[in-house]
Amino acid sequence: MQTPAAILVDINRIVIDTLTLPPLKPGQVLIEVKYSGVCHTQVLEYRGHRGKDPYLPHCLGHEGSGVVVEVGEKVEKVKPGDAVILSWIKGSGANIAGSIFDWKGQKVNAGAITTFSKYSIISENRLTPIRNDFPMKEAALLGCAIPTGLGVVFNTAKPRAGESLAVFGCGGIGLCAIKGAAIAGCVPIIAVDIQASKLESAKQMGATHVIDASKEDPIQAIQKIGPLDYAIEASGHPAVMNQALKSVRSQGGTAVIIGNAKQEHFWSLDPKELNQGKRILGTWGGDNHPDVHYPRYCNLIHYGQLNVKPLIGKSYSLSQIEQALSDLEQGHTLRPIIDMSAP
Ligand SMILES: [Zn+2]
Repeated sequence: MQTPAAILVDINRIVIDTLTLPPLKPGQVLIEVKYSGVCHTQVLEYRGHRGKDPYLPHCLGHEGSGVVVEVGEKVEKVKPGDAVILSWIKGSGANIAGSIFDWKGQKVNAGAITTFSKYSIISENRLTPIRNDFPMKEAALLGCAIPTGLGVVFNTAKPRAGESLAVFGCGGIGLCAIKGAAIAGCVPIIAVDIQASKLESAKQMGATHVIDASKEDPIQAIQKIGPLDYAIEASGHPAVMNQALKSVRSQGGTAVIIGNAKQEHFWSLDPKELNQGKRILGTWGGDNHPDVHYPRYCNLIHYGQLNVKPLIGKSYSLSQIEQALSDLEQGHTLRPIIDMSAP
């Protein structure tokens, strides 16, 4: 089996070429990828911001949707023809380490999940089957952006109806957190960003207030609205993490950090914030259990409670992957989607 794939060969250098896939190991599944999302994690890998990369050259991508082509021995979760979500977050099923693909005699590492290719070999536990009539473009974002953004609200912060919540950074994950807060009954819901277009999307996802942090101090602006119970930081900048912590109320306000900072970008904070009874929470991608939580998120979309169209960005072909990464990095698009059927 051969596939076109995006291969990260060095920092800032991706080659699109044909790879040969090895036979399936027990617990692995051959997937025809339909759509892949592009996430800031791949931007960090592409730019070398995650530190030394011992896996080069390697495949990329950790959220997508596809159809099962073939299953390895002992796979019970899916069968050929099933529509599936491809997600980096581990669920039930075999946990099989990555494969090595062949590139004209050279080895290319592929992790337990990679999605920037027409076909991919994926560990059973990174797959979640979905109804076959589910829209596949939306399904791709169920691999990372949607569960991370909804999960950080539903599973990590767990606000109650009527509590106030602010989201700092309105990319794909931040917008999903805003929608999650709206579904959970939070009011007010305050969106903070430095791009007017993202704040516009935030309103569509349920923000009741928007703050342009390039024009006003977000901490002061939030205080004018009222005491803040939860701040969710989804920008990855340590300075913004400080703003999130400073903006929540004393005695019980909680800042949740979800943004990925660049390698060696550290956060120094004033411990007095903690002496005031504020709390900081981390989250493992929204603390999801895919087998339990993804079907719920699918229900929200299927029954019209969650419209994710405002966060779907521009569509790209696989050969335009570097353009997609740079557009995401520069904020020219929301979540880019790689359409594997595009020429
Ligand atoms: Zn991601």
